[in-house]
Amino acid sequence: MRFFDDTMITSHSDLGFAVSDLDRSSALREHADWQENAYKNDPATRFILLCKDTPVLAFDGALHALFDRQALEAFGHVRQSLFLGIENETPYFGIELDAAQFDDLKLREDLKLIDMRSIAMQGLFSPSLLSAIGTAKAMLHWHNRHRFCSNCGVESVMATSGWKRSCTGCKTDHFPRTDPVVIMLAVDGDRCLMGRGAAFPEGRYSCLAGFMEPGETIEDATRREILEETNIKTGKVRYLTAQPWPFPSSLMIGCMAEALSHDITIDPNELADARWFSRAEVKQILAGNHPDGITAPPKMAIANHIMQIFVDAG
Ligand SMILES: [Zn+2]
Repeated sequence: MRFFDDTMITSHSDLGFAVSDLDRSSALREHADWQENAYKNDPATRFILLCKDTPVLAFDGALHALFDRQALEAFGHVRQSLFLGIENETPYFGIELDAAQFDDLKLREDLKLIDMRSIAMQGLFSPSLLSAIGTAKAMLHWHNRHRFCSNCGVESVMATSGWKRSCTGCKTDHFPRTDPVVIMLAVDGDRCLMGRGAAFPEGRYSCLAGFMEPGETIEDATRREILEETNIKTGKVRYLTAQPWPFPSSLMIGCMAEALSHDITIDPNELADARWFSRAEVKQILAGNHPDGITAPPKMAIANHIMQIFVDAG
């Protein structure tokens, strides 16, 4: 069926956090007996550990992100835990260790604390395990910053194995949030529009991007962001692919937009520069041999894949 046979819409194993074999097993989240047994007694269960938003990895010459029950117990008190799902008959839990342990953990020779971005950049783990670590990070971050009810201000408690918080006062349920971001290229025939933020590494250009706002469609947000940042008007918008981005909990929604105007006026609050790049130039940028030394975001980032889709469509 042609709807589902479009080679422009692809999911690549090197797109970080976007490939997962985890069965989230939502029916088991409220099954207290199953949860307790999996957490305490099932020898197959594995734990993904974080401390202060940083993954805690075992190190024995190689790096390991999964700890068994015995290894978990050796850390002592656990600040909070949540059920991530089951992969290959292995239940996964995300664990947050007490922040007070952070400095001691960093000193241990049998552990490495490596930030999430570096883990993704270096491709240290399988795509699916990277996704599970990213999910644990996003979820634990959300719990840490939503300890009080946004409706009445009273303390809330974790429920449903970590997949919601319930207010102890007004009983409102609060659910983990995902913040949608549109990230896109405006395309004008054989060239596309890319920009650079003031904080980008020297020579780096990338897709434009911005948070979606309430009441917008993906298409509206795509057109608005391009217009706000560069004053380029766009028409048709096409969705390409998406990437969970646990910094702290976004979903990057990759699109292309058909440019209807050509003269760029950047918003200096958003961008340091924006310009049109030919398809041949984008190809050079991705290959790392652009004559002006212009570089692309890394392969684990969706911007790189959107640029590649633009090149491949030529
Ligand atoms: Zn409340």
